[in-house]
Amino acid sequence: MVKFMLKIAADLENLTNLQPQGGCDDPYFSYLFKLKCGNCGEMSRKEICVSLDYAVRHPWAKGTTNLIRKCKLCERYGTVTMISGQGKPLTLEESEAWKYAPLMLFECSGYEPVDYVFGNGWKVDIQDGTEFEGVDLSRGNLAKYGEEGECPMIYNLRSTFDVVW
Ligand SMILES: [Zn+2]
Repeated sequence: MVKFMLKIAADLENLTNLQPQGGCDDPYFSYLFKLKCGNCGEMSRKEICVSLDYAVRHPWAKGTTNLIRKCKLCERYGTVTMISGQGKPLTLEESEAWKYAPLMLFECSGYEPVDYVFGNGWKVDIQDGTEFEGVDLSRGNLAKYGEEGECPMIYNLRSTFDVVW
């Protein structure tokens, strides 16, 4: 089984600590991405969705897994297992340094995760110290117009799945 670290980056303005609403190990935060079959190379047409709160007994390894899926083309089974405790919020400093922050680790068997999709359920810390929840990044950006000048913004969202050895 191969482990893939999902890392995210974005341009942040007047805010910091971009992360899932309930923190990086938010059990209800949904991760959407496509899967490429490691056997035949078939790419899933739609994104699959996994979250920590849904787990089933692993079909051939110890413990649980978050997704069991059969490739539509070659009919091989694969799994996607989430490993919590590895994520960190994306800070303004990292954003300004063009760095990526690790979000979630996925142990995959039979599949390679690709094309992560940013969705709903994020939170950020606004610079006046308040938290802003329910941030929806599915349109690729956030611009929140406050009453006084400083406009918190998120744009240029990027993501990568890095193989972890
Ligand atoms: Zn296949």
